[in-house]
Amino acid sequence: MRTQVGIIGAGPAGLMLSHLLHLQGIDSIILENRSREEIEETIRAGVLEQGTVDLLNDTGIGERMMREGQVHDGVEFQFNGMRHRINMKKRTGKCITVYAQHEVIKDLVAARLEAGGKIIFNVSDVSLADIDTSQPKIYFRQNGVAEEIDCDFIAGCDGYHGPSRQTIPAKKRKEIKHVYPFGWLGILAETAPSHPELIYSNHETGFALISTRSPEIQRYYLQVDPTDCLDEWSDDRIWTELHKRVDMDGWSLNDGPIIQKSIVSMRSFICETMQYGRLFIAGDAAHIVPPTGAKGLNLAIADVQVLAKGIVQYYDQNELNLLERYSQICTRRVWKAQRFSAWMTQMLHRNFKHTPFEYGLQLAELDSVTSSIAGATYLAENYVGLPIEW
Ligand SMILES: Cc1cc2nc3c(=O)[nH]c(=O)nc-3n(C[C@H](O)[C@H](O)[C@H](O)COP(=O)(O)OP(=O)(O)OC[C@H]3O[C@@H](n4cnc5c(N)ncnc54)[C@H](O)[C@@H]3O)c2cc1C
Repeated sequence: MRTQVGIIGAGPAGLMLSHLLHLQGIDSIILENRSREEIEETIRAGVLEQGTVDLLNDTGIGERMMREGQVHDGVEFQFNGMRHRINMKKRTGKCITVYAQHEVIKDLVAARLEAGGKIIFNVSDVSLADIDTSQPKIYFRQNGVAEEIDCDFIAGCDGYHGPSRQTIPAKKRKEIKHVYPFGWLGILAETAPSHPELIYSNHETGFALISTRSPEIQRYYLQVDPTDCLDEWSDDRIWTELHKRVDMDGWSLNDGPIIQKSIVSMRSFICETMQYGRLFIAGDAAHIVPPTGAKGLNLAIADVQVLAKGIVQYYDQNELNLLERYSQICTRRVWKAQRFSAWMTQMLHRNFKHTPFEYGLQLAELDSVTSSIAGATYLAENYVGLPIEW
């Protein structure tokens, strides 16, 4: 097989890249090691920044999101038994939209297939070769048969565990990791929304986040020890802890049957070497953020906007300027998102090693941010999404 851009991974990054390239007349093939059903059902992120929403709309993918997604103008912070709302729309003119990642995936897959795009599902043994030449190759197996794709470029959009990043020689790869002493137990519950906007709560027993997915399904998170196992968290224990962390006088969280639960540990990771020869890595393949800032999916979409523009510039003008600056443009924005996500994580989670003085400072920081126009504007600007600086 031959294509202009070989894309590994049908997550938000790979699918959006293929879609953007197609709109500019550039051919790509996506290789995905899971089935279509699996990628369309995996529960992950749900907060879309304004820039992500605009891109989906501007490129003809936003119709269902505009119908079914929920636009939130503000976000609430709860601490010391009080709630404080930050009006993002007033502070920045922008909003966020709650629309689940797997719904974005469904819309992108449908658009690619409708336009005749090629996504090969259920592949195995994907490997990359000749990435430092002008004709890189991807080897893989489909139904057990060995196949090869010759490309001009390879986009590694295969998440943290995929093979693309590992193909960059270790000596040339600059990677930085940080682990937080927190875990998130996330649940999906069948019940009506408890509140019209997201609530981030810093309670003395730990952090909780009240989010939503649809009018019928709610997404709630609890700070847990990252080494906890799911069988230590019965449904009753989850509801008791959630109520303790967010209920207020006259307001109680809606509960209902829990239909999914998982625990993730919190970490930051950044591979500053986002390009090597003709290989470009994007999204979780290049960086992981703790979910407190709701940035993972949005960063993946922003990376491929830069990459698509660089590839278009190459084919249209035989010009490599943007592609050569790909790592630099993306890592600048990724570092800012890392900083925001780390700040939100540190400000909102209960660190049980903190002294009473340190805990007092943490609550005072939340109070300062939410009660100051400058503080609230700063938080809102980051939450709705920073622009790409070309
Ligand atoms: C378990 C989990 C839960 C998350 N929850 C949240 C959340 O609650 N809130 C939030 O804001 N963010 C969350 N995130 C982050 C957010 O979902 C990611 O940042 C986002 O999915 C990144 O998109 P991506 O396209 O870069 O990578 P991915 O979505 O990971 O897509 C990569 C794709 O590559 C495929 N792939 C991997 N290896 C290979 C291979 N060898 N060959 C072919 N294909 C391959 C994978 O199957 C996958 O479909 C979560 C992430 C994970 C992993």
